Amino acid sequence: MRKAVISLFAYSFVAVAVFTVQTHAQPAGNTKAPAKANPLDKGDFKVGFPPGFPGKKPMNADDKAGLQGIADSLNGVIALPKNVYLNVDQCGEANAFYESESSQIKICYELLDQFEDEFKTITKDPVKVENMVEDTLVQTLFHELGHCLIDVWDLPATGREEDAVDQLATVIMLDGTPSGQASAINAALEFKIASENETKDDMLFWDEHSFSATRFYDMLCLVYGSNPQKNGRLVGANGLPQERAERCDTEYKRANHAWLKLLSPYILN
Ligand SMILES: [Zn+2]
Repeated sequence: MRKAVISLFAYSFVAVAVFTVQTHAQPAGNTKAPAKANPLDKGDFKVGFPPGFPGKKPMNADDKAGLQGIADSLNGVIALPKNVYLNVDQCGEANAFYESESSQIKICYELLDQFEDEFKTITKDPVKVENMVEDTLVQTLFHELGHCLIDVWDLPATGREEDAVDQLATVIMLDGTPSGQASAINAALEFKIASENETKDDMLFWDEHSFSATRFYDMLCLVYGSNPQKNGRLVGANGLPQERAERCDTEYKRANHAWLKLLSPYILN
């Protein structure tokens, strides 16, 4: 079985960076002030299975350590009204979930296996495959985090929630660093590969998710729009059509602004 989430620890700082830097920009070199108590903060992200909802497979130590890094960082950034559990489990399908009833975010091992198979179709380099799987896993985790925050804080979301939480995942990953941007591009690539593997029967017009190809372009648009001057290579053949690229600067600013505004009452410090 693959090592699932240990490297996610590195990305835990991404979440911290995006919320603290953009909401409370501080001069370089300043020591971060200790988090102030937010009276709304009555719970934490916890690693493991929620009471009464045991997993099908015990989590290994690496998975626990990886998720604990994420949980610790998120707990320093976001207020929660109750505990939310993060875990990796055997699900019987390649998927990931936020479940309101059990208050948990679950990533399925089968989904990680699917990501691995997909990326193996574009490179034989096992290190690259592993990195791309991890980047896509990060996108998945932050996507589910979006569902969770909409639920626990009763946030408004007009339009499709699935699209809204894709936007949250992307703006978190786009933390202003080259590695954050590279990770977002890798995660977008998974949607492109998935779309190329889809048959006509997979095109479910009633499904709540946008089609994989649309999710690829939407995500790439936010990446490009976060820094159009430096991302011209993302426009053109195999990338964003010029007609879409022209609006991505505004799309990125609006997505970023919307999520920061929605979450501002719940951001700690
Ligand atoms: Zn979703």
